[in-house]
Amino acid sequence: MPLPSMKDIEPTQLTLNSRFKFRCHKGVKCFTQCCSKIDILLTPYDILRMKNRLGITSEEFLEKYTYMHIDEKTSHPFALLKMSNDKEGKCPFVTADGCTIYTDRPLNCRYYPVGQAIHKKLEGKKTVDEEFYFFVREAHCLGYQSDREWSINEWKVNQGAELYDDMNREWKTILLRDGIPGQERLNDQKRAMFYMASYDLDRFKSYIFGGRFLDVFDIDRDEIEKIKTDEIALMKFGFKYLKYILMLEETLKVKKEYLKNNNQ
Ligand code: SF4
Ligand code: SF4
Repeated sequence: MPLPSMKDIEPTQLTLNSRFKFRCHKGVKCFTQCCSKIDILLTPYDILRMKNRLGITSEEFLEKYTYMHIDEKTSHPFALLKMSNDKEGKCPFVTADGCTIYTDRPLNCRYYPVGQAIHKKLEGKKTVDEEFYFFVREAHCLGYQSDREWSINEWKVNQGAELYDDMNREWKTILLRDGIPGQERLNDQKRAMFYMASYDLDRFKSYIFGGRFLDVFDIDRDEIEKIKTDEIALMKFGFKYLKYILMLEETLKVKKEYLKNNNQ
């Protein structure tokens, strides 16, 4: 599970058709060894699934199970899963029987031992986002000794990672903004907004419905109803909001009345 140490990452860039041999199961000697002392970067959809699995709010989840890491290069804040403080450094969800939240485990746990990344590349005169994959080979992982063969695409489907990728795709493209001319590092206020809209859905909902947000922005009635009742729509609205505040796209419109009253 990421963030693996650089020495464990194989340098070859792979595609969905690349093949490998691997099997992970309860009978393997290293069972659950990969669930300790590891940095697991969480995505917005991971948090939505895990907090609902545990029946707690996003705020409680973030407080109890994560810590924030600010990426030095981009200044983006990320939520990482907090391992236990003792010498074992275990994931809070691992037991001798395996992962207690298996059906809602994070995307990066699903992909392991495959790593996934996205970069910008030139296609003709256009810049497009391209996903690629790589293998993580940690010494303790015996899964590679199996003869069970997969393509990366087959692995992705088998591990239920497709839905997660679809849910997080827009967010991941926002993370690539540092490659766009004119994009700056986040100041404290924008970083807090970035974190809230990415990870803290319940607080983001209060921010929309409990303050002046709807007096400022012109949001369609149907969309308001949707984000009130559907968490996935709320999460995707968060991506839209991020694009707006980061000036990536004019995804929101300020109300004319608001502009008029505030320009007087
Ligand atoms: S969430 Fe589950 S699969 Fe991921 S590290 Fe924790 S116990 Fe392991
Ligand atoms: S085979 Fe690899 S992925 Fe499976 S439990 Fe062992 S270390 Fe973890």
